[in-house]
Amino acid sequence: MSGPPAEQVSLADLPIRDDLRGMSPYGAPQLDVAVQLNTNENSYPVPAAVAEAISAALAAEVAGLNRYPDRDAVALREDLARYLGHGLTAARVWAGNGSNEVLQQLLQAFGGPGRTALGFTPAYSMHPILASGTGTRWVDGRRAGDFDLAADAAAAQVVEHRPDVVFLCSPNNPTGTALDPAVIDAVLAVAPGMVVVDEAYLEFARTGTPSALTLLDRHPRLVVTRTMSKAFALAGARLGYLAAAPAVVDALQLVRLPYHLSSLTQAAARAALAHADALLSTVDALRGQRDRIVATLTAQGFEVVPSDANFVLFGRFADQHATWQRLLDAGVLVRDVGLPGWLRVTAGTTEETDAFLAAVVPQSPASAGSAVEEQV
Ligand SMILES: *Cc1c(COP(=O)(O)O)cnc(C)c1O
Repeated sequence: MSGPPAEQVSLADLPIRDDLRGMSPYGAPQLDVAVQLNTNENSYPVPAAVAEAISAALAAEVAGLNRYPDRDAVALREDLARYLGHGLTAARVWAGNGSNEVLQQLLQAFGGPGRTALGFTPAYSMHPILASGTGTRWVDGRRAGDFDLAADAAAAQVVEHRPDVVFLCSPNNPTGTALDPAVIDAVLAVAPGMVVVDEAYLEFARTGTPSALTLLDRHPRLVVTRTMSKAFALAGARLGYLAAAPAVVDALQLVRLPYHLSSLTQAAARAALAHADALLSTVDALRGQRDRIVATLTAQGFEVVPSDANFVLFGRFADQHATWQRLLDAGVLVRDVGLPGWLRVTAGTTEETDAFLAAVVPQSPASAGSAVEEQV
């Protein structure tokens, strides 16, 4: 075989699937900046006592790494079920390398070529990316102008598109607001296929916000996904999970890679869950910083979307990317989610939130100077 050397071949030269041509990978910038408030991680490090417990659990696994892990991660799923409560058992819980992996497995089992997934944009950017990776046709559902999703509007779009998989995100990323349970009920009443409620941020929700876990007993096609990447401060460990009917877990076992969850991941997650209270002790502080961001930005004349998560969507800017760059120049990395006029900031420690507010307030309508004309 001749032709250009491998180093010079571009992606367009490869016999890649037609539906992947011209696509961009998921790519939140990972920049070395003092204040990183762009990917909704928990800013607090793992507490020392928990770090020690995880280290000990990992050390205990090392000599046995010649063997494959428990393919079904049963002990971990028992621990996750206990954490979730609601009478759940291991048979109704499934885990993967981040909730992105369990979402992908759901699409492998319930989506795929010839099938359709519907989400309500703007929502989590990985939902359509995972759909395309699995050959699932994606339909962008609509929200109201203030990003609200009303029960009748959501149900009407499900009736119109008859998707095999519906994605709901509560609290929604990037807008931050939890769904009214009536929306989930209305979608479940008409959905012909699976309904996935992505609850990556549920632990941060304002008091009184119910979880879709309360609906599981009545709805065999409902799936609720969670993650240890956000409230649990374990984004680096890669552990996500879901709760559903036992038959849904059976379906996922048809598509998962054998031994997908390493012994080390299972051990780290179990040790972390044994210290859930300590890991989740930062949640109240982060909710406090979130509420402080909402209050301060509102007082400064920004538009702010109500948040049940550890982040806040705010605007509006004539050119949100220019504001993003100015904040970056000031040492604060926030997220431009590609929503014209808006930026998203993660609630961090008190000091990080101080730095963000100090950098952003001069960009506000209430501040004197040229920034005023930039507001739309
Ligand atoms: C961060 C996030 C996830 C988490 O992904 P992991 O793979 O568990 O790290 C899932 N869903 C949403 C909406 C998110 O924002």
